[in-house]
Amino acid sequence: MSGLNKFLSRLLKNKQGESLYSKNKKSQPSRNVAYIELSNVCNAKCIFCPYPQIAESDKNLQNMSAEGFAASLNKAVELGYSRLGFTPTTGELFANKRWAEHIATALRHDKIKSLYYYSNAILLTDENIEKILALPNPQKIEKFCFSVGGSDAATYKKMFAVDKFEVVQRNINSLCEKLKKAGSTLKINCELRLPKHDKTTKRTAEKIFNRAGYANFHANIVKIFDPIGGLINENDLDYLPEITDKATPCYRLNDIRFDANGNVWMCGCVVSERPGESSLRIGSLADTNERIEQKRQAVFAHWRMREIPSACQPCRLYKAAM
Ligand code: SF4
Ligand code: SF4
Repeated sequence: MSGLNKFLSRLLKNKQGESLYSKNKKSQPSRNVAYIELSNVCNAKCIFCPYPQIAESDKNLQNMSAEGFAASLNKAVELGYSRLGFTPTTGELFANKRWAEHIATALRHDKIKSLYYYSNAILLTDENIEKILALPNPQKIEKFCFSVGGSDAATYKKMFAVDKFEVVQRNINSLCEKLKKAGSTLKINCELRLPKHDKTTKRTAEKIFNRAGYANFHANIVKIFDPIGGLINENDLDYLPEITDKATPCYRLNDIRFDANGNVWMCGCVVSERPGESSLRIGSLADTNERIEQKRQAVFAHWRMREIPSACQPCRLYKAAM
């Protein structure tokens, strides 16, 4: 599941995002989330996501290696991050078969305070559900989020462009049932991406994906999308308005992202990684922390001189840092 989905939901119901940022800002003025991309391979072709175009580009599609994960986690901690996001910009977390092992390592790390991820739930098999139930230190898990393309097979096929509605419906219901049985308090968010005329409600979503009535299940509806600098142009979708005033640097520049290929980026947003776009890439795992920090500061300094990175110029997910 892409970072795009996470951004859209944060933007639309951004009270939570704002409060998290404010809280972090007090204790850590320049750090928010460190994204670790365990896979940039996806098993869907959502109409609101640039993954189909990215898959056809020269981007190296792969799972992050175990060494890459260890180095990314180390660097994130050394650079002062204590909150991790395992949502790829584009890609599906469960495509990496070692996902649970890596997340367990992060949960055991004494400098990591919290983490979360988004998945499309296509690979939320019983085996993966058992792995979720077995994760250590579950109190550090903020939430696990699942994005689905509507509440029926036809809408799902239209939005995700694969025939997986029944699979996803079964998987999420099974997860809820098993969490309820285990007496878990793990927060599960289920976000429905819908075309503009779809009237599905949260109540309907709860009935369809949480038949067991798991108490910590929350449904959300997302019906506004970012056109990703012109890459997405579907008549059935509603879009965010353009933003012209970007005088202050975007708050997402306080994030850092370790991609599956060993590159380091500012911002975990898919807009930053359109084919041919690299203005927010600030180095690689081989670079020193000082070098990465210098490049990071340079992006802020240029922005304050009105030189906005090309990735950010068309981005409608922009939000001014406070
Ligand atoms: S699940 Fe959809 S939104 Fe997420 S990366 Fe795959 S194609 Fe993009
Ligand atoms: S404006 Fe730039 S930093 Fe902010 S979300 Fe968009 S791409 Fe990321």
